[in-house]
Amino acid sequence: MSENPANKALVIGAGLSGLALAARLAAKGFQVEVFEQNDFPGGKAGLLRREGFVFDTGPSLFTMPAYVDEVFRDCGKDPRDYYRYRKLETLCNYFYEDGTRLNVPADRNLFAEEVERVSGEKKETVLRFLDHSARIHSLTEEVFIRKSLHRWKNYFSSPVLRGLLSIGAIDTGITMEAGIRRYFRDERLVQLFCRYATYNGSDPYRAPGTLNVIPHLEYGLGAYMPEGGISDIPRALYRLGEELGVKFRFGTRVEKIRTEGKQVKGIVADGVSYDADTVVSNADIWPSYRSLMPGEEAPEKILSQERSSSAFIFYWGMDGQTEELDVHNIFFSSDYREEFRHLFESGQPHSDPTVYVHLSSRVCPGHAPSGKENWFVMINAPQHREQDWETLLPEIRRSVLAKLEGILKRPVESRILFEETLSPLDIEQRTSSHGGSLYGTSSNSRFAAFLRHPNFSSKIKGLYFCGGSVHPGGGIPLVMASAKIVADLVSKS
Ligand code: FAD
Repeated sequence: MSENPANKALVIGAGLSGLALAARLAAKGFQVEVFEQNDFPGGKAGLLRREGFVFDTGPSLFTMPAYVDEVFRDCGKDPRDYYRYRKLETLCNYFYEDGTRLNVPADRNLFAEEVERVSGEKKETVLRFLDHSARIHSLTEEVFIRKSLHRWKNYFSSPVLRGLLSIGAIDTGITMEAGIRRYFRDERLVQLFCRYATYNGSDPYRAPGTLNVIPHLEYGLGAYMPEGGISDIPRALYRLGEELGVKFRFGTRVEKIRTEGKQVKGIVADGVSYDADTVVSNADIWPSYRSLMPGEEAPEKILSQERSSSAFIFYWGMDGQTEELDVHNIFFSSDYREEFRHLFESGQPHSDPTVYVHLSSRVCPGHAPSGKENWFVMINAPQHREQDWETLLPEIRRSVLAKLEGILKRPVESRILFEETLSPLDIEQRTSSHGGSLYGTSSNSRFAAFLRHPNFSSKIKGLYFCGGSVHPGGGIPLVMASAKIVADLVSKS
């Protein structure tokens, strides 16, 4: 194929969205080159191997696999030739300070019965809440996820009009917590459903009730795990891209997006200029403007928005087995509101955090040596500003261990064979995610969906953006949707 800039697309970043986009554009006939500063594909979805243990370093929960499968199908391939996954039978185990344990089966009827048994909230109420969640999903998927919100003609398709006309039914005017309290009085259930705000790094006491759509993604559509763990997904997308002729340059940092007048002209990476009339940044929108285009007018309002929460993670190789734990486990803080105040106001980790423990080795046998377990132990953390995470580490570790040993009533620390950590600063440094945010901007305002950066530049022709910090937001399915929107915009331009 000739080196024609008009037929060339340069992608900055091999995160999940950049990988999906590169494959999609290659399948549409573009000559695609991907520049990735790390020496591996996947961005936040990284991999850690140590002493016979394997850890997915970032995402651990896989919902809506259809969004990933669609990339392969749209490229004319069978996704099952690239990666396989299974549906989890248990969504999560919840542990509360008062001794309550709630095992959540994937079957919503069984879940509702379990809730009635444990909390006294009626089974029918649980099912009504889940129906409400499903209804929000059916009204919002086309409007807020599938299409660009920033192209006027998209507002005139019938599913989008239906969604917009039903805006009252999707609880934009109340908080998530208020929406949950319309159904439940038991504080444990309120806390359980408030937790879904963290699936996009938001605060249930401020985020709109529309986010009560998230439970449907698990209870209605299911939770999944690729056979070899989450890292199967970037591996599969990378292979797809390679087969379609995408050229990957790993260990190559892009320094600049080049423009001439109102047209993008290419990039500069490691001092070398590359020409193309189409450039897509999969890097976070903040450094995309501040570092890669310092001379261009930046959308200050968008860049100054509150970011989503970050995380502090311990990767522990553990001796022995823990019967009480499943793939996903939550140990709740006793004061959830205070935890979110710390996350979004004080900027300091809370001394009584909710602790998430993920054991991929439960379903991916190669992830831990026989008789051992891989514990991915995460707390939500404020975004990185000035905190000194090394100084904070011992205190965070103490509070995490106190929570786990206090509730499990058995030693945990003495079983740790090795430990690695990931702080908000590490996340920022390794993926260029501003503040180490996991999901771009937070959804704490009722207009958040409309305030994300569009998937294209309105000032520079040929410049596009995909990934978790732009429309429609963060999380595996949404960044896949982002890649599809951009691929369609590029091919129609
Ligand atoms: P990223 O993964 O951010 O990748 C961007 C890429 O661009 C990086 O590889 C980076 O190195 C590269 N880059 C940036 N600047 C440059 C440059 N100048 N030159 C070259 N390369 C550059 N989602 C879920 O669905 N489920 C979960 O359970 C979940 N848990 C999470 C837990 C953690 C700890 C984290 C960090 C995230 C989690 N997420 C989860 C969110 C999910 O991982 C992200 O939304 C998604 O992976 C983001 O993909 P992306 O394509 O936007 O980009």
